[in-house]
Amino acid sequence: MSTLRYRLTCLLALLLLTSPAQAQWHRLPFQTMGTEAYVELWAEDDAKGQALLHGVQAEFERINQLMSPYISSSELSLLNREAAARPVTISSELYQLLQQAEQLAILSEGAFDISFASVGFSYDYRQQLRPSITELTEQRPLINYRHIQLLADNQVKFARPGVKIDLGGIAKGYAVEQAIGLLASAGIKHALITAGGDTRLLGDKRGRPWLVAIKHPRKTHDIVAQLPLTDSAISTSGDYERFFIEDGVRYHHILDPKSGQSPSGLMSVTVLGPDSTRADAMSTTLFVLGLQRGMVFIEQQSDFEAIFISSEHQLYFSSGLAQ
Ligand code: ADP
Ligand code: MG
Repeated sequence: MSTLRYRLTCLLALLLLTSPAQAQWHRLPFQTMGTEAYVELWAEDDAKGQALLHGVQAEFERINQLMSPYISSSELSLLNREAAARPVTISSELYQLLQQAEQLAILSEGAFDISFASVGFSYDYRQQLRPSITELTEQRPLINYRHIQLLADNQVKFARPGVKIDLGGIAKGYAVEQAIGLLASAGIKHALITAGGDTRLLGDKRGRPWLVAIKHPRKTHDIVAQLPLTDSAISTSGDYERFFIEDGVRYHHILDPKSGQSPSGLMSVTVLGPDSTRADAMSTTLFVLGLQRGMVFIEQQSDFEAIFISSEHQLYFSSGLAQ
């Protein structure tokens, strides 16, 4: 190699080593909380971007370990095992989420109710199992958010034996919101995090809005709309994610606390708003309330909008989106 070429090569290597890491998009799909999740972020520094992707994944897993009903060491499982017998002390993080769930239960007059699980745990959508009439009659009165007593010092007590809770209607949204908070405090300005039907956007997609699709509730690969959004949360609840059909009846994973059975008026509801925790819980709430009562409810929530798809395949928009 000539001396000149050798010198040029050395110079190039030096430049590569000392030039600042390239700003770029970083992406990571992963599995968490029984669903597909995805994070995409813009970072000025390559190593920082990669580290944050894994930070997001770890945050989901941390919350899963705390709140999953399938993990016997989770605080949620501990409550379901012991809170009927004695007050159980939990982390202030879970306690605060239970408070948020309670607020929405009160606001929705019990349409959102995490004690739905008192009946909900008798359904198994994979095995196509549902409670018998006798079980339903027995367990239905156990669904009542008032049975969940939030006591002083992060203690929780269930008023009756048999009461069970599950955070499937709010925990994913909460995790998405926490993970976005983590990115924001690390200085990230542009990011998208999605888990199942819950998506949260930080900033825009560098000069243009993010595009978030609303799935077609019956055609798996089709979408009904694509919304250009920045800095907001969007959550969809549908009757098509976990369900089975028996004798023409669709049994799906959202339950009306009043009946212990799946509501049938809607196929999906999408909620848009400023934060994922509430957007997630509110989409489940609106699904239970149905079109008429759901529309009245969402119109009363400033900052939140909704798109309903009825069982007749009709789209309905709340007033803030009507244009
Ligand atoms: P996904 O989990 O597919 O994102 P949702 O956000 O609509 O869908 O949440 C559905 C989950 O909410 C159910 O799987 C169940 O865990 C929980 N859930 C069902 N019915 C209720 C209810 N009435 N109140 C609160 N949570 C509910
Ligand atoms: Mg929801």
